[in-house]
Amino acid sequence: MSREHIQTEAGCADPFAADAPSIEAATRRIEADIVPIRDREEVPLRDALGRILAEDVLSPINVPSYVNSAVDGYAIRSADLPTRGLATLTLIGTAWAGRPCGETVQPGQCIRIMTGAKMPDGADTVVMQEHAEDAETGICVGEGHHPGQNVRMAGEDLVAGQPAAAAGKKITPAVLGLLASLGIPWVAVTRRLRVAFFATGDELRSIGEPLGEGELYDSNRYTLYGMLARLGVEQLDLGVVPDTPEAIRRAFERAAERADVIITTGGVSVGEADYVKEVITDLGEVTFGNIAIKPGRPLAFGRVGRSVFFGLPGNPVAVMVTFYQLVQPGLRRMMGETGTRPVRFEARCLSQLKKRPGRTEFQRGRLTIDADGRVAVSKTGAQGSGILSSMSAADCFIVLPRGSGAVGPGDTVWVEPFEGTT
Ligand code: AMP
Ligand code: MG
Repeated sequence: MSREHIQTEAGCADPFAADAPSIEAATRRIEADIVPIRDREEVPLRDALGRILAEDVLSPINVPSYVNSAVDGYAIRSADLPTRGLATLTLIGTAWAGRPCGETVQPGQCIRIMTGAKMPDGADTVVMQEHAEDAETGICVGEGHHPGQNVRMAGEDLVAGQPAAAAGKKITPAVLGLLASLGIPWVAVTRRLRVAFFATGDELRSIGEPLGEGELYDSNRYTLYGMLARLGVEQLDLGVVPDTPEAIRRAFERAAERADVIITTGGVSVGEADYVKEVITDLGEVTFGNIAIKPGRPLAFGRVGRSVFFGLPGNPVAVMVTFYQLVQPGLRRMMGETGTRPVRFEARCLSQLKKRPGRTEFQRGRLTIDADGRVAVSKTGAQGSGILSSMSAADCFIVLPRGSGAVGPGDTVWVEPFEGTT
């Protein structure tokens, strides 16, 4: 079949056609096409930070492993708590954290106890130091206490044999601490994803080179580096590739040899020199080549050999928007991470925002708390898809749904904080 024939036949099935899928439809396609990697490795606990658990971790012990005091005070028998007036208790010893008291608390007795110290036999309640008065041979305790107060039970945090963390969980500092509290020295995590990327564009120069007329510095490989580094993937930076089908083909072939995922920037719009589309259609498969968002409409998704392919637009803000909205969720899914949904909430908009119905827009904003304590958001400046300065001044996306029109001061909008997305 000739090339012309394929193109005329393509019609509405052409992935680069103008009837672009919504972001929701595109997200579902990506989720359906991406298969989580199965390979795993065992790493020492500290190295597991930021990685994804490959299997459920069952708690080998109770945490805490013994009943202990939550405060500094006096361990007593609850039967000795006075219902009226004061009770005087005789002090028979001291329990320190890590140095238990061997004595058993008998009726009418108490033991001085520090936070975290093992509860002595016989005692079931702790009276805070501040609520006890010194007496000649011990302490006086008044009314208003409850049996069992200020005591941490064994297994109160984690019960032996129960799941402590599920497969697919990202190992945050809290999870790192949780695993440490179980005495676990090595962790099974999914292997690092290998992500290859290159920028296309004859106008692009790399840092260190002088800028000629009509040239600009490549910034996309730096934003990509930053976003990928935060995800903890292995990066293969193939540099800036000139706008020729041969060079782009060679870069794709190199990338497909080694990478699970290939990301490109530029060359996917409708210009004369946009060869990424041409090469990828020949070399791989394109599931969709457009998406109804702004910025970022010319986003392509598909496959080259066994590698997943994301063809990002060239404009720097469009690169970041499409990465955070579509690439990052795909990579996280591929790394085996589960339960990842961006955090979105409502805020009062303080700016006038231009918007026409038709595409979901991701404008760049800054969150504040207004005089009434409510969340408010202002746009950070010019919203063009090439304006990185308004992106770098922002701490959130202002998400304007596909059907919405312009927004004015006082209107409620959805915001998505960057800390929630990255
Ligand atoms: P393209 O999609 O290749 O037509 O690129 C769209 C716009 O993004 C053009 O103005 C390019 O100069 C710009 N652009 C493309 N790639 C980069 C890059 N790596 N760094 C900065 N700007 C870029
Ligand atoms: Mg270009």
